Amino acid sequence: MSFPLVGNKRIKDSLLALISQNRLPHAIIIEGDLGTGKRTLARYIAKASVCDEEVRPCGLCRNCHLADIGSHPDIETLAPEEKKVSISKDQIDFLRTIAYHSAHTAKRRVFIIEQANTLNPVLQNKLLKVLEEPPSDVVFIFITPSAEALLETVVSRCLVLSLFTPTPEEATDYLVKAKGIEPSEAKALLAEEKNNIGKALQRLESKKESIGRAVAHDFLDAVERGSALDAMLSSVPLEGNRSETLKFAEELAEILMGKIKKSQNLPETAREYIRMYDALSELTPTLTTNINLSLFFTALSAKLSAVKNR
Ligand SMILES: [Zn+2]
Repeated sequence: MSFPLVGNKRIKDSLLALISQNRLPHAIIIEGDLGTGKRTLARYIAKASVCDEEVRPCGLCRNCHLADIGSHPDIETLAPEEKKVSISKDQIDFLRTIAYHSAHTAKRRVFIIEQANTLNPVLQNKLLKVLEEPPSDVVFIFITPSAEALLETVVSRCLVLSLFTPTPEEATDYLVKAKGIEPSEAKALLAEEKNNIGKALQRLESKKESIGRAVAHDFLDAVERGSALDAMLSSVPLEGNRSETLKFAEELAEILMGKIKKSQNLPETAREYIRMYDALSELTPTLTTNINLSLFFTALSAKLSAVKNR
């Protein structure tokens, strides 16, 4: 099972060594900025803690499977309840009680405490009692933007893992390898999401799901092949679907913009894409009126093909 963090090589190496030598500490703090993979890492450690195989987490056994779908009875995640800003006293009392119960199916129990920075000092002191005399088979994982938000007495009993935002190169490289996309697409996604890999992945998924976005690629391919008819045909799945047609227009604009940037050293090609972009920009506002969608696609394929066939 591959390690889920991008960059952060030192943490990866030491953590894998601790896991394989069975020396994972009882309490861990994972600190780092938004999007560094704190929760992903916490889930990975939790899975490694409940997996029984030689090389942990194997990713294949029942414990790993239950951990993956968030249903492992020995992995408990605490987070502020809906509309609350912090974890409550009741939740901490609950944790303190069940921490001393033995595990259900795994050898260890894991408690992931999300947004640990929201715990007030009184609640942290309650937890401290458990941390001072930890049950032998329990792992506590605290997630926080910064360990400084926790009491020194708590921090001193934990292994602190500080995650760093991967460099744009590391992040790009990861997306290209993991998702098989072009480096230029990976860079664009990361730029839109401020180098946050989790959000870039989400955006990539939502792009894939949109039929309008998929059609935009087919549509332009047909135009580039010089077939206005194929372009028209490619738009058939969007018949009567105005919201997806808007996404189509948005995606087509993005693709054209990308092509314009790419052809900076080819002025003739760049001019062609600029003309297509202008034609699209001229027609797109009609989508918010009551225009018949097939009229929109007819006009668009004619105008773009005219640019191509000049
Ligand atoms: Zn396993």
